[in-house]
Formats: sequence, C-alpha cells, structure tokens
Amino acid sequence: MNPTPIQHPGTVLGNELFIKREDLIPFSFGGNKARKAVLFFREIDAGGYDCVLTYGSSSSNHCRVVANLCAARKISCFIVSPAEASKETYNSILIREFGAKTVTVPVRDVHDTIEKLLLRLKDEGKHPFFIPGGGHGNTGTEAYAECYREILAYESQNHTFFDYLFLASGTGTTQAGLIAGQIRNRDRDRQIIGISIARPCPRGREVVMQSIRDYLGSEADEKEIGERTVFLDDYVGAGYGATDNEIRETIRRVMADFGIPLDETYTGKAFYGMEQYLKQEHITKKNILFLHTGGTPLFFDYLSKQRKAIV
Ligand SMILES: *Cc1c(COP(=O)(O)O)cnc(C)c1O
Repeated sequence: MNPTPIQHPGTVLGNELFIKREDLIPFSFGGNKARKAVLFFREIDAGGYDCVLTYGSSSSNHCRVVANLCAARKISCFIVSPAEASKETYNSILIREFGAKTVTVPVRDVHDTIEKLLLRLKDEGKHPFFIPGGGHGNTGTEAYAECYREILAYESQNHTFFDYLFLASGTGTTQAGLIAGQIRNRDRDRQIIGISIARPCPRGREVVMQSIRDYLGSEADEKEIGERTVFLDDYVGAGYGATDNEIRETIRRVMADFGIPLDETYTGKAFYGMEQYLKQEHITKKNILFLHTGGTPLFFDYLSKQRKAIV
C-alpha cells in the first residue's frame, strides 16, 4: 500500500495542524478498517478461505470494508450485529448492497451466535475465516505499526517532527499499533493521545495496553507501555455514536474551513476532544498530527440529520 497523504491545512489554537488522511486509502472509502482489512485478507487469500465472519454494529466501518472485500472476491460474508445498535446507516445499506448476511441478536448472545455460526459453516463443508470486531488482534496492530513507519518517513523527508498525535480510539489496535511503533523506534518526545469514542477508563486503556503487549511479546516493557498509553474518556458524550451540538458544530467547521469530512461517532469526537485538550493543557506552537481514521459514509448520516432539521 502507498503511504497515505499528510496535509497541512492550517492551524489549531495556535498550533500547526497536520492531518494524515487514512480516509483516502483508495478502497471502499478507506479508513483505518481498510488498512487493517488489507492485512486480514492477505491471510484469507493465502489460506484458501471461502467465507468470512465478523462482528459489528450497523454503523461499523469495519463491517462495510470487510463486506466490500468479500463481494469483490465473490465469497460469502456473515456479520453478527448487536440489536442494541442496529438502526439503518449508510454503512449498513452498503453492507446489504454487497450481499453480506447480517444476523442481529441481543449483545449478550453475540459470542454464542458467532461460535454456532462458525460450527454450522464448518459442518456444511465451508472454510470460514473469523475477523474479530474492529479488526482486533495482532494483525490490526501490525497495520498501525506500519502506519507509524509512514509517519516517521514523512518526518525525515520533510525535516519536521510531530509533537502530538491525536486519534479516535475504539477497540484499540489503531492506538496500540502506533504506540508499539513508537516504542520500537524509541522516539520518546512524542505524545500519542487516544480520544475514547465509547469505552471508559480504566478498561478502554487496559485493552490498548494488552494489544501492545500481545504484539510486542518479549520486547514489551511494562513501565514504558504504561507511560506511553494515554487514553482520554472525557469526550465520550453519551457513549458510542453519541451526538451532541458541539460535535456537530466541529464537523460543520472542519468541513467549511478545510474541506475535510468528519463524523459523529469517531473523527468528529476525536477532533473535538483534541481541541479541548489543547485548550486545557495550554498547548501552543507545537506540531499536531491528527490521524483521520476514516468513516466517510458516516459523514452522510450526519448530513441526513441536517436535512431533517431543515425540512
Ligand atoms: C474503528 C474506528 C476507529 C477506532 O479504531 P480502533 O482501532 O477500533 O480503536 C476510529 N475511527 C474510525 C473512523 C473507525 O471506524
């Protein structure tokens, strides 16, 4: 994969703002789930699997990308989805268009449903591959260790240094991969700040740290992992997919000022959280890198709500 672009669209609260455009990965609206899925599908292609099973809500970017990659290969895609987060979104419409089969069950039954479905597929003589929700696991972490190498290459080519890296953190391997990359490279001066989009501390932070440990194995240094993992749950709002006026106002402003779409579930929250953090910590005159983790179809869900407000 070619490195995604890093742009310098302007300033944020007296700091230089750079944005790494993971949303421009050229498949299925890109995003961090596309970067992770490319690695999962390398395993799927090499292993001769003939169907894929994964998990996610109706607004899941991960499920949309996986369903698209399955459609492109003409292999079946099964998605187990929690009934608690099943309202229609542009992602869920796309998933249907790709011909994926979604099984919606109460969240407490998700685990059993996945196990049963895997057994049934094997009984039918199929060769299913399971991708954990959000592209979790070492494969997902590896994708973002790779992204970190792209950031380092950009810095050395452009003789610059990003003091802070902000991103939306959910199931955790995006942040874990970046931190693992940082630990391996021993560049101590940069702070990587995950803005939680749903999970509270300490659990959300612990999941990120566990992913770093799993990935680094014997290289893992507990003290360093603890020091490096900053996971802020102050901007979660009412939980996953929460919407409020401040987030919507952030999305409107970033689109108007920079021509870059954000969304209410992930990147809008992260951008808002980043601004709040810069203010609270009185951070100025630094180079700030915002990782645009994608989710472009969700920008249109935001737009649809704006339409209802007018009509
Ligand atoms: C999934 C997702 C995230 C969070 O990534 P994790 O690796 O799950 O922490 C952030 N932004 C977008 C747009 C996503 O789809």
